[in-house]
Amino acid sequence: MTTIFTKIINGEIPADKVFENDRILAFKDINPVAPVHLLNIPKKEITELQSVAKEDLGLVAEMIEVAQNLAKEFDVENGYRLIANNGPLSGQEVLHLHFHLIGGKQLGSLG
Ligand code: AMP
Repeated sequence: MTTIFTKIINGEIPADKVFENDRILAFKDINPVAPVHLLNIPKKEITELQSVAKEDLGLVAEMIEVAQNLAKEFDVENGYRLIANNGPLSGQEVLHLHFHLIGGKQLGSLG
């Protein structure tokens, strides 16, 4: 399913990009909930974490490695969250797999 994130990948709408390679793109969330709020997405159209196929688990591992590097770059190594909302009850709005990388302040409880 094509979403607004595909338009960002294709350069059809702008984004504040912080990392890009052939497989992964990361950019600043347009509506940040913390001083650091990045979105880390695969360029491949995958709807959600729950539908990641076995052959794409390496891609998800690479997304986590990118998140580790971004946490260093944005100086939040001492406390951040990597969150993937999954499905309607989680509040997932964009149906393209993404990790929120959130940090830069004392974070509240989950749930
Ligand atoms: P989720 O609720 O997990 O699907 O999160 C989607 C996120 O995408 C939200 O935090 C939005 O603020 C963010 N978002 C939506 N459109 C854009 C955009 N054009 N550029 C950057 N972030 C966006």
